[in-house]
Amino acid sequence: MADIDLLQIAKSLQVKTIGGIAQEKGQHWPPPPTISLRSSLVCQQNAPWINYEQTHSIVASSICTPASVADLVAVIRWAEVNQKRVHAFGSKWSFSDCAMTPDVMLDTGQLNNELNTVQSAFNGSQPSHVYHVQAGISIHQLYKNLDGLGLALETMGGASGQTLGGAISTGTHGGDLFTAPLADSVLAIHLVGAGGSQYWIEPTAAITDKSLLHQNVVPDIALENIIYDDDWFNAVLVSVGCMGIIYAVVLRVRSQYTLIETTSATTWQDFKQTEAQQLNDRTFRFLQVVVNPYTANTGTNFALVTTRREGDIAGLPNVTSPSDRVIHALLQLAGDLLTANPIDAVKVAAETFEQLLQSGNINDIFNSAGKVLVQLINNILSDAPELRAVVENDYSNFMAALWAPGTIGDVSYKVMDATRYRPAFGPIDVDSPNIDPTGGYSFEVSLPAQLTGGTPPIPYYVGFVDDLIKMVNNATGTFLLGYVAIRFMGQSRAFLGMQQWAQTCSVEVSALPGVNAELELLTNILDQIYYYPIDMLPLPHWGQFLDLNRQGYGNRYPYYNKWQQIYANLSNNFTVRTFENDLSNRWQLTFPPLFMNVDVQLLGRSGHQLTIQLAVTDTATGNPVDGAAVIIYDEDFQPPVQKSSGTTGTNGIVQLSYIECLDPETHTPVECSGRVRKERYQDVYFFTPK
Ligand SMILES: Cc1cc2nc3c(=O)[nH]c(=O)nc-3n(C[C@H](O)[C@H](O)[C@H](O)COP(=O)(O)OP(=O)(O)OC[C@H]3O[C@@H](n4cnc5c(N)ncnc54)[C@H](O)[C@@H]3O)c2cc1C
Repeated sequence: MADIDLLQIAKSLQVKTIGGIAQEKGQHWPPPPTISLRSSLVCQQNAPWINYEQTHSIVASSICTPASVADLVAVIRWAEVNQKRVHAFGSKWSFSDCAMTPDVMLDTGQLNNELNTVQSAFNGSQPSHVYHVQAGISIHQLYKNLDGLGLALETMGGASGQTLGGAISTGTHGGDLFTAPLADSVLAIHLVGAGGSQYWIEPTAAITDKSLLHQNVVPDIALENIIYDDDWFNAVLVSVGCMGIIYAVVLRVRSQYTLIETTSATTWQDFKQTEAQQLNDRTFRFLQVVVNPYTANTGTNFALVTTRREGDIAGLPNVTSPSDRVIHALLQLAGDLLTANPIDAVKVAAETFEQLLQSGNINDIFNSAGKVLVQLINNILSDAPELRAVVENDYSNFMAALWAPGTIGDVSYKVMDATRYRPAFGPIDVDSPNIDPTGGYSFEVSLPAQLTGGTPPIPYYVGFVDDLIKMVNNATGTFLLGYVAIRFMGQSRAFLGMQQWAQTCSVEVSALPGVNAELELLTNILDQIYYYPIDMLPLPHWGQFLDLNRQGYGNRYPYYNKWQQIYANLSNNFTVRTFENDLSNRWQLTFPPLFMNVDVQLLGRSGHQLTIQLAVTDTATGNPVDGAAVIIYDEDFQPPVQKSSGTTGTNGIVQLSYIECLDPETHTPVECSGRVRKERYQDVYFFTPK
């Protein structure tokens, strides 16, 4: 892959400016600005890109690594004159496609420096500790920098490999019960938007003085682009890269502190009895419940409840790696498998060993531990299914090995950053590799922690977890090789933050990939959130699996319209499409939402064969929708069985014939399900006539 310099491209085309490149190619969208080239900016052409957890890959037409705000301006303008979209990426830790574009991807990794120039523009209302920093810094580097100054983050997620810009842009959070997520520690955003225009955006209650800011800190930002406005700030804060590139932020931080963490073994059923009290207990700042989804013979689900509070940690053990305990749990599993069925246990172990030898993974056993487990489980599922129950029984042991009951105390970041300071294998406090060798699957759903529904009323999140437990236990053809973690947090001010309620509960399901039929199970669980009542729509994490089968739209968010108003301002009323990508189109973030009407009629029946006609129209105009894809399927099967499909013609009409759906138990005719999809429109689900 050749590294190319913009100057070289220009030279090869015998032009001197980026605008000239576009003219040379006959492209005039948007009107080519004339800018000087920057030799510091290096881009790779036709560059392969893969995210950290290996769930998405793409070949981008360019991957550029800006090292300054001027580089950002130049590359955005260069992309625009070449009619290319742009998206930033940080550490590529998102499981979703939120950072991707096939056009120009910006690696923010070099924008990782402390700035701390904002101080010369304070208006007197700033908090006691602030930190002004470029947004490509990793959370790890950020809290280390702060620690060197005796400072700390107010809150963070459970890991530190993300960049600050990436973590903010997806609403990344931990489990601090009454504290809004990290994005809400941001006090000011320095954004480079479409056309390379720069903005400085703060809430209405600002911490800087406009003229001082323009004079001393950001002379390149036009005064009218220094904006003190809550709607602007709340819209740009969490925007999955769609508003532009966040070059730098000013963070509210605090003096360094220590955390005391206590974990107790209990059951999900016991936790439910006291959950309301625990959610309101202000003696703690953090609450997490990790649940074993496999129900024991007693009818209960083992759970680990972890709380944290600030305080004196003298005499307490520090955070340590759980690797000894995990190895012990693995040995116990081996023993239990041998006791249950020695012949089959030896057989699956030998199969696994042979597959490892063939794959070459045996050379790097520590990095391959996940793959070994996946292979072993698959061999059990296919060749010794009776041993699956043994693995289920040992699940709680693994949970308790990874996150041991007891009390520990340490400096704030070591307690919060579980991935770095509690690795199951390998040394502590090392940077993650560029790509997780095992890969991973993860989705997370945010629900109101305190709102209830159903009869008798129970908290929505409790209902979701109860359903999840049932689905996992019913899926006997697979095994969830991962965890279910429930965390709680305060409300975010960000319009697209997942934390939309006074207190939000997030339910996360993460698993090692590769177990037979596991992705199907995760898909079915995630699909559930798209069936909730319209007034209580759970929100999937932007940075995790969002829409494996069904999907949602931006208007799930109560302040979607306000977010779109600001987007309209930054995109010349949706006409400048620099920062749109697949996700932003799918979720109807970067264009005004479009809806379809679907009229279904039974045309005839011949024995078990039905013929129906669909007429699809645009809801707003009443015009026929050409090219809408229609699928009829039977949802009684997992995965659903496709019965028929077709596409609407220019008159918006399609006729479909299919064999009727039958109830699997009574064999009586039932409605089939149907879905209509058309790019840019919201999907429509319907039932066919019986
Ligand atoms: C091991 C692991 C642990 C995790 N733990 C947690 C957790 O505890 N809590 C939690 O909430 N999430 C967690 N996540 C999810 C993760 O925090 C998010 O996916 C986060 O967005 C990743 O940050 P990143 O720097 O890798 O960003 P990327 O994945 O590279 O990008 C994420 C989004 O941010 C945008 N973006 C990135 N930088 C910029 C910028 N400078 N300007 C504008 N847009 C930008 C991208 O375009 C994209 O839309 C975890 C993920 C992994 C893999």
